[in-house]
Amino acid sequence: MTRTGSTAAGTAAADVRIAVDNPATGAVIGHVEDMTAEAVASSVARARRAQQDWARLGFRKRAALFTSAQRWMLAHRQEITDSVVEENGKAEEDAIVEVVYCVAAFSYWAKHARRLLAQTKVRSLSPFVLGRGMYTRREPLGVVGVIGPWNNPLINSFGDAIPALAAGNAVVLKPSEHTPLTALLMERMARECGWPRDVFQVVTGAGGTGQALADTADFVMFTGSTATGRAVAARAGERLVPCSLELGGKDALVVLADASVERAVNVAIHGALFNGGQTCTSVERVYVEAPVYDAFVARLRERFHEVGVGRSAGLGSTDVGAMTFPPQLDTVEDHVQDAVKRGARVLAGGHRVDGSGRFFEPTLLVDVDHSMKCMRDETFGPTLPVMKVGNAEEAVRLVNDSSYGLQASVIGSDISRARRVAERLEVGCVTINDAQTNYMALGLPMGGWKGSGLGVRHGAEGIRKYTRTQAISVNRFPMRRDPHMLPFDASSYRFILRMVTALYGRRRSRTK
Ligand code: NAD
Repeated sequence: MTRTGSTAAGTAAADVRIAVDNPATGAVIGHVEDMTAEAVASSVARARRAQQDWARLGFRKRAALFTSAQRWMLAHRQEITDSVVEENGKAEEDAIVEVVYCVAAFSYWAKHARRLLAQTKVRSLSPFVLGRGMYTRREPLGVVGVIGPWNNPLINSFGDAIPALAAGNAVVLKPSEHTPLTALLMERMARECGWPRDVFQVVTGAGGTGQALADTADFVMFTGSTATGRAVAARAGERLVPCSLELGGKDALVVLADASVERAVNVAIHGALFNGGQTCTSVERVYVEAPVYDAFVARLRERFHEVGVGRSAGLGSTDVGAMTFPPQLDTVEDHVQDAVKRGARVLAGGHRVDGSGRFFEPTLLVDVDHSMKCMRDETFGPTLPVMKVGNAEEAVRLVNDSSYGLQASVIGSDISRARRVAERLEVGCVTINDAQTNYMALGLPMGGWKGSGLGVRHGAEGIRKYTRTQAISVNRFPMRRDPHMLPFDASSYRFILRMVTALYGRRRSRTK
């Protein structure tokens, strides 16, 4: 059965439609509108009107609406999971992670939004503001435009809408044109849960629709490739609206000599092959200290041969699903062939899978180096290149030899040593003895350095970014005239200088 997506924005461009296929079978499963800039502008205008009442509703009532949405998701979890699996081609287990994330996110932001956005008292010792009461408060920005990629149709799109809504913004979401159907299901959820009309809308379409959203929203929350992220940031810069960019990665895993080989192998396999390797935080390269290299590679090779690849037909039916985005198969194949041409050896996999659907064999590469694409460019597929290093020092240098800086992992038994290594890595997040797990810790900021992005999702900053700060200073007991007001009076200034010397001149400033 094919599905036809219609959005709350209407049918302004209903004659221009995008076909959505199931990457595991190649069958067309639905069509969506490729919405015009006018249709997007009209959605944003309606969202802007709806936002004012949404902000006035307050944290408690918004939290209650989140609770009904959470219950809806739990009641419809199989329908949502099936939708993600169908349009993205991933394993059912990968899709369940997305549903669980959103269910937990509703609770997290409902519980913490008010505290994280609360007013803050500010004190100052400046003689020019003596006696003033000062505080900061936060206001929602208005309409947040969320633009998402195809690899996680739910968490990297709708997941980022949840804190924006919790802060009192309206959200217009533009999912990837390759996986738009689950976002439309979330629009249905908002309707069925009685959310105020137009507070959450989905606009469907390709890059032009995303650009139109970046041209009109009051904040752009973008997740996608570094190249598109730069274009979105440039546009946000021209319009002087804030944006947050979650971009590509080339995440490294460092195996220290004292690591448990079994744990290191399990973390490496899961980190590299979860979601078919199509995760911004996939482990895309491994550096192993020489003393454990042979044992690690031997065990990893055995385990790679145990991994199943194919179409998901329910829980436990496959480990690695399909390649969602057709050109990605070519990129993965190109990285493997380039590595082999430059001297790498393939210990498992190495080829596309014949037949219907888009699949690539889980592929293990050794004898790799930094002249190869597989060690420098984002592969975004089920491959894992492994390199031997003399020591942790060399591993740190190689991890940092990258234009990306999203995440990294360090595996080792001596936690102090692992932490010392972690703190030298030029990445936004590091997991020790784990990979990827931190995404599920909503209190922990997650964001990339260097070419991997700007800003963070999750944590205090993950919701404060959706607000603007107003600073208020109150002079509750105003005198007729302050000592430093015009016309100048020499004695007042001598007094101010004596005060400043007493405050700052004699004692060393204390740090808190
Ligand atoms: P992409 O950049 O091609 O597209 C992302 C979204 O941007 C899509 O919805 C697309 O339609 C839209 N878009 C395209 N051109 C646009 C423009 N000019 N203005 C505004 N929007 C535009 O990325 P993709 O191929 O869909 O996703 C894969 C990439 O996403 C990978 O690089 C991956 O690492 C990255 N990613 C990053 C994170 C993270 O949290 N850092 C998470 C998931 C994916």
